Amino acid sequence: MRELVVISGKGGTGKTSIVGSFAALAKNAVFADCDVDASDLHLILSPEIIKTEQFVSGHEAEIIEDKCTGCGRCYELCRFDAISRIKISDSTDFKYSVKPYLCEGCGVCYRFCPADAIHFEESLCGEWYIADTRFGHMVYARLAMAAENSGKLVTIVRQQARKIAEESGADLILVDGPPGIGCPVISSITGATSVLIVTEPTLSGLHDMERVLSLTSHFKIPAMVCINKWDINMEISDRIEEVANQKCKGVIGRIRYDKSVTEAQVAVKTTVEYGGAASEDIEAIWRKMNNDKFI
Ligand code: SF4
Ligand code: SF4
Repeated sequence: MRELVVISGKGGTGKTSIVGSFAALAKNAVFADCDVDASDLHLILSPEIIKTEQFVSGHEAEIIEDKCTGCGRCYELCRFDAISRIKISDSTDFKYSVKPYLCEGCGVCYRFCPADAIHFEESLCGEWYIADTRFGHMVYARLAMAAENSGKLVTIVRQQARKIAEESGADLILVDGPPGIGCPVISSITGATSVLIVTEPTLSGLHDMERVLSLTSHFKIPAMVCINKWDINMEISDRIEEVANQKCKGVIGRIRYDKSVTEAQVAVKTTVEYGGAASEDIEAIWRKMNNDKFI
């Protein structure tokens, strides 16, 4: 099973428009949106959800007021300052509660509360979905606000996409990866067949691409680069190509700046469905990746 992961050093490089177009060009693929903090592939592919699952991860403490004796043990023991203490007026006693945004779910308060006054439930951190699109099956997810563990959710999305691909006889998993170089990106690329890095011709784009290339070379994953809107700064595009030639398989293609990319988004179509100069460039990249066996 081949797996192509498309990533970028930062958001807003046009990565998802490119993945959407690849989805339209692929004949027998399953799509996985691993940008679980801000998934947007579904905005282009308009999926119909056929299955929803909850993403439960870690624990969160909560003090049951009626049972709490106000002994203050949890307040003393919490290393994360996640227990607040407020003096009750006209009394020497305090009222205790958990600050959910600081609770790390370590369970110490739960274990040591002498009054068994702490709830310690698993916390709901988001949802993931299996859906049908006009081009094939898709798996994507939504992380709850301020929830952590996005790397774990990314792993679930990839595992589910692989399972569907195996069951349906698909020969490619196409992954829209998260931006940056953090934990969710590492979860997205480990074990992939190849990685396509989308960058733009700016100094920060060049810098971000180098950081991502350090990551792919550390994990020994074959990587190639695509320069989006390459003609807005031809000089930096050439520098990107030089660096890419030294540090990975090089630049697989350049995409022209083209207003039809935005027009396609407004029309809820992929760039290649809409047509235009960028569409031709994306199709050329897709052909080259397949013909030269980059994926
Ligand atoms: S340890 Fe238990 S009883 Fe004591 S203040 Fe905390 S929640 Fe209340
Ligand atoms: S679970 Fe751990 S972090 Fe959360 S309130 Fe209790 S002691 Fe603090």
